[in-house]
Amino acid sequence: MQVNEVKRRLLSCVLTALLSGCGQQTEPHSATFFAMDTVMELAVYGSESLLAEGEELILDIEQRLSVTDSSSEIAELNRNGKAAVTSETESLLEKALALCERTDGALDITVYPVVRAWGFTTGEYKVPEEIDLIDALALVDYRKVKLDSGTASLSPGMQIDLGSVAKGWAGDKVMEMFRQRGVESALLNLGGNVQALGSKPDGSSWRVGVRSPSGDGYAGAVEISDKAVITSGGYQRFFEENGNRYHHIIDPKTGWPASNGLLSVTVIGDSGIACDGLSTALFVMGPERALTFWETQGDFEAIFIMEDKVVITDGLADSFEPLGKYADMKVEVQYRDKD
Ligand code: AMP
Ligand code: MG
Repeated sequence: MQVNEVKRRLLSCVLTALLSGCGQQTEPHSATFFAMDTVMELAVYGSESLLAEGEELILDIEQRLSVTDSSSEIAELNRNGKAAVTSETESLLEKALALCERTDGALDITVYPVVRAWGFTTGEYKVPEEIDLIDALALVDYRKVKLDSGTASLSPGMQIDLGSVAKGWAGDKVMEMFRQRGVESALLNLGGNVQALGSKPDGSSWRVGVRSPSGDGYAGAVEISDKAVITSGGYQRFFEENGNRYHHIIDPKTGWPASNGLLSVTVIGDSGIACDGLSTALFVMGPERALTFWETQGDFEAIFIMEDKVVITDGLADSFEPLGKYADMKVEVQYRDKD
């Protein structure tokens, strides 16, 4: 390269740097699409072609895991009680089962017969007859799912549903691919599950909104870098019958929608699948049990939203800001017992 050409390129880079930071995009490339029953958005600072690759990855995961697509690996497992699974699906099942174990069954991927009895898979909602619930509950026990080098098997009648962890897992896979491609800055929003890779290109944190369970904007915002921010809430899917509201997060011990005063739980940590599984599990546990559980764990922080208060774990004390009606309430901070 001629010396003049080098000087010209350097100058042009300096000018660009003054405007936007040398070699950095000011705006991310972004894409919005529908997958896993929800709207997904990818925003990436890097090559635009990464968007199509990210979308393809998610659609491929959906195709393998969907309980409603009869050709998926999981649908085959549910139909036959046994199926060959790809190493990726086996690894997801291992991680999901470990989360069931870790939460002592508050998360249970075999709760599907109960979810079906309530009509949450088809949209034909109904409060099940008690006898139907008892029959469905008898099939629920994650400890009976067996994995053996490429083959998954269930006990008779058992069925699984990975809806509680699939989006977090998909987010992890997209992040892994972005990282391998040298991306340093990206944000995913997979139907309200937000996952950030790195910080914004200018080095500042991402500000992620936590939805208000009553549907009116945001209950708060949290500043994060390189983290997943994943929420489970009864408000996300529910139906009403005879003046009662029934939502889609089931307590595997009773077969009924978890009812313990929590409107939503947001879990923040490094792993998308862990945050996704834990947010569902903590929602089932309820505030007291969930906070006791958090005290014994070291890999996540959480935001508990109730009708009249917000409780956050101490790692978020400097990064959480309550918004809307929650800005007028006291935010309680839960500290770890030092004893
Ligand atoms: P999430 O939105 O991640 O909290 O997941 C909720 C979805 O997971 C529901 O729509 C059900 O399909 C399924 N599900 C409901 N209750 C449970 C549970 N206790 N354990 C595992 N999956 C559940
Ligand atoms: Mg979940």
